[in-house]
Amino acid sequence: MSKREFQTEVSQLLQLIVHSLYSHPEIFLRELISNSSDALDKLRHLTLVEDRYKALIGNGIDSPRIDLDLDEANKTLTLSDTGIGMNEEDLVSHLGTIARSGTKNFLSQLSGDARKDSNLIGQFGVGFYSVFMVADKVEVTSRKAGEDKAWKWTSDGKTGFDIEPAERSTAGTTVLIHFNEEGAQYANSWRLQEIVKKYSNHIAFPIFLTYDKSEWDAEKKESLKTRVTEQVNAASAMWRRSKSELSDEDYKELYKSLTGDWEDPLFWFHTRAEGTLEYTTLFYIPAKAPLDLYQADYRTGVKLYVKRVFIMDDSKELLPQYLRFVRGIIDSEDLPLNVSREILQQNKVLNSIKTASVKKILSELKNIAANDPEKYAKFIAEYNRPLKEGLYSDYANREALLDLIRFKSTKAEGLVSLADAKSRMQPEQKSLYYITGGDENILRNSPLLELYKKKDIEVLILDDDIDEIVFSNISQYGETDLKAVNKSATGEDLKDESTPEKADALKPLLEKLKSALGDAVKEVRASSRLADSPSVIVSDEDEPSARMRQMMRGMGQKDIPDPMPTLEINPDHEIIQKLLAQSDDTIVQDAAWLLFDQALLLEGVPLKNPASFVQRLNRVLNQSI
Ligand code: ADP
Ligand code: MG
Repeated sequence: MSKREFQTEVSQLLQLIVHSLYSHPEIFLRELISNSSDALDKLRHLTLVEDRYKALIGNGIDSPRIDLDLDEANKTLTLSDTGIGMNEEDLVSHLGTIARSGTKNFLSQLSGDARKDSNLIGQFGVGFYSVFMVADKVEVTSRKAGEDKAWKWTSDGKTGFDIEPAERSTAGTTVLIHFNEEGAQYANSWRLQEIVKKYSNHIAFPIFLTYDKSEWDAEKKESLKTRVTEQVNAASAMWRRSKSELSDEDYKELYKSLTGDWEDPLFWFHTRAEGTLEYTTLFYIPAKAPLDLYQADYRTGVKLYVKRVFIMDDSKELLPQYLRFVRGIIDSEDLPLNVSREILQQNKVLNSIKTASVKKILSELKNIAANDPEKYAKFIAEYNRPLKEGLYSDYANREALLDLIRFKSTKAEGLVSLADAKSRMQPEQKSLYYITGGDENILRNSPLLELYKKKDIEVLILDDDIDEIVFSNISQYGETDLKAVNKSATGEDLKDESTPEKADALKPLLEKLKSALGDAVKEVRASSRLADSPSVIVSDEDEPSARMRQMMRGMGQKDIPDPMPTLEINPDHEIIQKLLAQSDDTIVQDAAWLLFDQALLLEGVPLKNPASFVQRLNRVLNQSI
């Protein structure tokens, strides 16, 4: 026997599970059953694609099932499956370490609130360890399909685990649970049946319970105990039944057993397609975005079945990346059972299903947005950002996505749609406007918005860090142009006929300012977009803004050239008028830099040389006092 220690993260997790996630210990059974179901799925699939596994058929593989065996007197429960099984190495790595980086994130997100936290179990593959909420000793005996040796893993969930050789006549896994005080309530056949029905009724395999059944013997006039084995769950591939036969509870239960999520899903879309292609899809939107949504090693949540037979999960081919938060099932009639991951990548059938599924999901979301705005707001609170990712990756569905995404706005509290903004356009207004940047507050107070406010034109506030990248590619919403207010060409809605005239009058000043600022600016010109501020920075249509460059540098790109910004000044502003009349060149020089630096500050860009800014400010202050 060899004694091993748990990886640090596992010990930490076990501590948490045992000490703070006790609110619903019964989920241990759901977790173990779902592992068995996964193991049966995996083996069944292997027997379809690999010859050497075909030989195993006959050893229980042709009638996959999960068995629960209850010993009430000794307070133990055995859970066995005829699935893929684990060898020594698997036992060590699957039941002694946590491979995914998401786990660290998981640990840091735990709030100490038991109800919330139990919701996180399962999301990061910590499912198995939940058994230690109810057990003081667990023995896992397993034999991997295609191998002769079996191994036994034993642990108290505290100090580590032992591994030793064992016997098992067929491939599969047996988990023997010794209930602790807390878990003793589960050494009860009635309770077990209730839990299986509640959490695992609709998994695809039958679950049998063997226990001592008390029955009234009419002849002997006493209650007799007989050992019986009964199927507990419905074991229907629920998604293949018609909607009318299914209740909301059925859908929610399947969702929970598929995902390990504790909360109900926000909504689900169940579709059966008949015609050239036959398939069923059942998609769920989780109430809370998966914790690994923004991590490189995120898990996908859609399982592929062919004719009710599980084929694979965690495949990034089934839905586009931006829909990685969707959970559920795709079940096709037309794919071959032995389809492999490689084949799937360019499979026409799957591609058609995928395309249709994306359309379906987006159009269902649109319906919800129209008919149940409150529910849709919950969706947007979690998933607005992934939808934006879709804008640059899914060209074909751009219009649909633009309708689904929501924005902050100068005209409304909360979030608005492009359609809302369009409906509020002024009679003469030609384009829709937005401003991008990293800080909502800075954006809302930007001098760039002054004239829009004055003219009562709505501007959308895009303060998400991916907004600038995403929206720089999008120039239209339907027939309407979509324009960034911080790009150099002024929207024609602000056109002021008198600007050229004013610019002429300003010419000498513009030249002085430009020569004072030298290479810091590309151009100094008269603005037609300012009302109250004397100056503003704008960037060229096709150049990244100052804020964007700052971001790119922050991400490690050192060689981003500083394209020279354009300084615009407000011809009608008092300061500018006074400067025009100013003959002292040193004052004009200081003013040039102060106008430039304040415009940068308002864009949220730190000054390269704050000391000179302060010196100039003090000089000017000194003169004015
Ligand atoms: P998850 O199921 O989310 O991966 P678990 O903690 O529930 O996380 O299980 C960890 C791993 O242990 C599984 O991914 C699987 O590889 C292995 N495992 C658990 N139970 C079984 C079983 N009954 N048969 C085969 N492998 C299993
Ligand atoms: Mg699991």
